[in-house]
Amino acid sequence: MAAERVPDATVSRLVTYLRVLESLERRGVVRTSSEQLAEEAQVTAFQVRKDLAYFGSYGTRGVGYSVPLLKRELRNILGLSRRWKLAIVGMGRLGQALADYPGLGEVFEPVGFFDVDPAKVGKRLSRGVIEPLANLERAVSERGVEIGLIAVPAEAAQEVADRLVRAGIKGILNFAPAVLETPPHVPVENVDFLAGLARLTYFVSRNVGEEWVG
Ligand code: NAD
Repeated sequence: MAAERVPDATVSRLVTYLRVLESLERRGVVRTSSEQLAEEAQVTAFQVRKDLAYFGSYGTRGVGYSVPLLKRELRNILGLSRRWKLAIVGMGRLGQALADYPGLGEVFEPVGFFDVDPAKVGKRLSRGVIEPLANLERAVSERGVEIGLIAVPAEAAQEVADRLVRAGIKGILNFAPAVLETPPHVPVENVDFLAGLARLTYFVSRNVGEEWVG
């Protein structure tokens, strides 16, 4: 692993580079360059080289990068070369959509689905059955769950996070519009499509405004 602390923005770009490499591979490309990666990832070639340099050099001067090799390295760095067991808490509209999502692929395996609503408990899903929240702690330890997905209403999210932390979860993906507090050894990633929409409407309204002015 890198000795230097890797900036969060670099980690985000590594995910983008991996997507680019997967796309290149689908197109039959076996060698690439920092220039090509940069163009497809919409960053500069300098940025690509700097990001990859945190983890050692994967390119050969004048020859560039092997697509399958760099893809494998990035998957290793991102922790995607092994399986991760997930628990989903909050099995409403979002939780059920996540639970059935085929894109979780080989890497992410949901092994527990929890809700407080007795009307939902017992419902069969493509990958399991919805269980009462009371089963959460035991399921996390007995099934080796490492990542918790929170899809409960905002007001219940911190309490669910606390329970997941106490149960020994290693990381949380939070979909609820709430700022969660966890100990430093339990990282939280927030996913918020409304925040994405708000950024988009900022740029769209600015463009629209420019047209009106111009
Ligand atoms: P929903 O009302 O359909 O589902 C919420 C579920 O959580 C219900 O089944 C409810 O019984 C359950 N629940 C409530 N308290 C609980 C607790 N303490 N423990 C376990 N389960 C509990 O809501 P939804 O539309 O599925 O949205 C779920 C959450 O995700 C909300 O916080 C919403 O704001 C958020 N959301 C985020 C995004 C995003 O992009 N991040 C998108 C949609 C919704």
